[in-house]
Amino acid sequence: MERDELLKLDREHVWHPYGPMPGALEPLVVTSASGVRLRLDDGRELVDGMSSWWAAIHGYRHPVLDAAVRDQLGRMSHVMFGGLTHEPAVALCARLVEITPEPLRHVFLSDSGSVSVEVAVKMALQYWRSRGRPEKRRLLTWRGGYHGDTFQPMSVCDPEGGMHALWRGVLPDQVFASAPPVELETAYVQELADLVERHAGELAAVVVEPVVQGAGGMRFHDPRYLHVLRELTLAHDVLLVFDEVATGFGRTGELFAADHAGISPDVMCVGKALTGGYLSMAATLCTERVADGISRGEVPVLAHGPTFMGNPLASAVALASVDLLLGQDWRAEVARISAGLRGGLAPAVGAPGVLDVRVLGAIGVVQLDHPVDVVAATAAAVEHGVWLRPFRDLIYTMPPFVSADEDVAAIGAAVVAAAAASRAQQG
Ligand code: PLP
Repeated sequence: MERDELLKLDREHVWHPYGPMPGALEPLVVTSASGVRLRLDDGRELVDGMSSWWAAIHGYRHPVLDAAVRDQLGRMSHVMFGGLTHEPAVALCARLVEITPEPLRHVFLSDSGSVSVEVAVKMALQYWRSRGRPEKRRLLTWRGGYHGDTFQPMSVCDPEGGMHALWRGVLPDQVFASAPPVELETAYVQELADLVERHAGELAAVVVEPVVQGAGGMRFHDPRYLHVLRELTLAHDVLLVFDEVATGFGRTGELFAADHAGISPDVMCVGKALTGGYLSMAATLCTERVADGISRGEVPVLAHGPTFMGNPLASAVALASVDLLLGQDWRAEVARISAGLRGGLAPAVGAPGVLDVRVLGAIGVVQLDHPVDVVAATAAAVEHGVWLRPFRDLIYTMPPFVSADEDVAAIGAAVVAAAAASRAQQG
């Protein structure tokens, strides 16, 4: 297809998340991707600073993952799940149970992070209904959170954030605590305790993104808050749900963000990097207690059965991706990228227009003191040969773990240049 025709049809018929690129910026047309490089239709190559939104931890066209897909394709691409079962899905579920915090034992496979959160909430609500406590159906969460775009996850997204605000009055009314401070603070712990205690009778679950609040603001907080939540939820008969859709599989420097605190939730969601970004798949894991609670009561079992549940291709590549990650010194790779980002972003510290620079694991964030000028910032990054997608007041990056030191250096320089370009547009 000719470029002009492609862009015309794109404009006329294709939804893009959060609308088209603003101003004069046309979407870039990607024709192929391998390693950490995206190839454009005009021959340019960009180093990927986004891992396709946290997902492509091994980069693109990884030989091991390509082989896993091809291999599975030779047997079957999809058959319905439930009643029928197959090795790729069973082996994946068993592996997930092995590597996630104990005592998570049951795995519900679905096809997107949003649905994995939807399922987690259904599990929590059903758990209390089947125990004769149907009044426990509200959720407590943090302001600044993001959990996906279907209605139930949106109901626990930041109430002031764009998504939630658009649907105010339609979404269920939840309980919001302020976002946790960076460091553990007694006053904030007390605020959380008061909220949980006050609402315990109506709360089904606390649902949070552990350690990193992602799309709602790229905020990092002290893992000790997870201990506080664990203690409060156990003391007040409330389930604890961790949404690790973004943080799972090493991105923060631990395999899962919950590992920073060494505690276990009752329900946990993973997605994004589960298949190394190859295919759409997510999973909701729960404990024996939750699974038992759901299936034993008078209310029928969890009413949810996605058509592509346990898709064999996605399962096979997910298992290969997990094994590929764990079969290497992934901590060292993430630490190397972390160090590269720290060095690369250092020139932004204290620069005009920059409020804060932070790095955790393989995540780097430059927070501006103004809403980012997306056109100027993106154009500056692309000029540096790097793909970034700034939003709100943030320029952030989450490179694939396979990025070479030069790639990480290029990303750092591009982020710094993007921040300067955005500031320059401020006048
Ligand atoms: N939860 C978190 C923490 C996320 O960051 C996201 C996506 O960005 C989701 C859930 C939703 O995942 P998906 O876009 O696959 O539906």
